Amino acid sequence: MKASGAGVVVVSCSDPRLNPYQILGIDQTLKATMVRNAGGRVFDALRTLAVLQTIGSPGTIVVMHHTDCGVTHFHDSKIRGALSELAPTDKTAIEATNFGEIKGSIEESVIEDLEILRASPWIKKSTQLIGLKYDIDTGKLEVVGEEQAQL
Ligand SMILES: [Zn+2]
Repeated sequence: MKASGAGVVVVSCSDPRLNPYQILGIDQTLKATMVRNAGGRVFDALRTLAVLQTIGSPGTIVVMHHTDCGVTHFHDSKIRGALSELAPTDKTAIEATNFGEIKGSIEESVIEDLEILRASPWIKKSTQLIGLKYDIDTGKLEVVGEEQAQL
C-alpha cells in the first residue's frame, strides 16, 4: 500500500479487536483520520467522508474490512428483527434500512465498497482508493483492490 502524502482517511470496523493505527503502522507524521462503523461499510461513512474531503481534501481513502466481522454473522434480517421488537412503530424505516451485512467474502465486500466510493458523486475522482482485508486471527493484511486517482 502506498498512500499519497495528501492525507489519508481510513474507513474500518468499530470492532474493538481492531487497532487501525497499529495495523497500518500509522504514526503522528501521517495525517490520518479514522472513520469507524459496524463493518467499516462506506455507505454508512459517506456523510463523514464528504465533510472530511471538504475540510481536509484527503488524497487517499483506505477501506479495511476484517475476517470474523460481526456483520458477517449478524445479517440485516437479524438486526431488523431485533430492532422491530424494540421499536415496532418504526418497522417501515427499519425494513428500508441497509445495516451493512456481509454475506459473501471479505474481498467482495471491500471491492463493493471501493465501487460505491468510485461511483459516488460526493467523492472526488482525484482520490486514490485502497481496499484492504485484515485477518483478525493471523494479523495478515492484504491489499484487495487499489485504484489510482482518475485525473
Ligand atoms: Zn467488524
